[in-house]
Amino acid sequence: MNIVLLGAPGAGKGTQAAKLVEEFGTPHISTGDMLRAAVKAGTELGKKAKSFMDAGDLVPDDVIIGLVTERLGEPDTEKGFILDGFPRTSAQAVALDAELSKLGRPLSAALLIDVDSEVIVKRLTSRRMCKDCGFIGSEANEQCPKCGGEMYQRDDDNEATVRNRLDVYEKSTSPLIDYYRGCDLLVSIDGDRDPNVVYADVKKALEL
Ligand code: AMP
Repeated sequence: MNIVLLGAPGAGKGTQAAKLVEEFGTPHISTGDMLRAAVKAGTELGKKAKSFMDAGDLVPDDVIIGLVTERLGEPDTEKGFILDGFPRTSAQAVALDAELSKLGRPLSAALLIDVDSEVIVKRLTSRRMCKDCGFIGSEANEQCPKCGGEMYQRDDDNEATVRNRLDVYEKSTSPLIDYYRGCDLLVSIDGDRDPNVVYADVKKALEL
């Protein structure tokens, strides 16, 4: 499976990707996770990206395209990949097409997880992540239910930044829905349900 996960921040892309990874072992390429790791490690990339991320704005295309191109060159992606949070602009989608055609590994689907924006604001401002294993939970989880690790709130999950991220999504990323529809790759599911119910639909939509 060579897939792109589309959907607003907080739609559940990371949660569904984690379930696919658990069942199928396909490499999960989350640009947000890669950037957060770079910020934490204090690399040049992290220093460049941090101010954009804190504001909920997009990191410049050339930076992110370079990062994903490099990752797709690693051998584990030959058996498939799940792109999560990339592409987010038309320029990124075009660059991805060019890279995948160079590699001879076309996309099999672009899966849109569709959730209303007010539901997203509530979800993201109450979202908590595990410091150790990355589990995505909510403020109801004092400790990680998966590994017992400490839960924290992402810097960009405050309401003002969340609203900006949703605006950025509407302006820059949502046009990709039509782009992938035009390529006959778009499949869409309702993401405003229990994650396990959504996952059953994800597998149906991807014919897994
Ligand atoms: P995410 O975890 O996918 O919500 O990403 C967190 C933040 O990382 C975003 O708000 C952006 O600042 C940055 N980011 C992640 N992926 C991309 C991308 N494909 N293009 C530009 N910026 C990105």
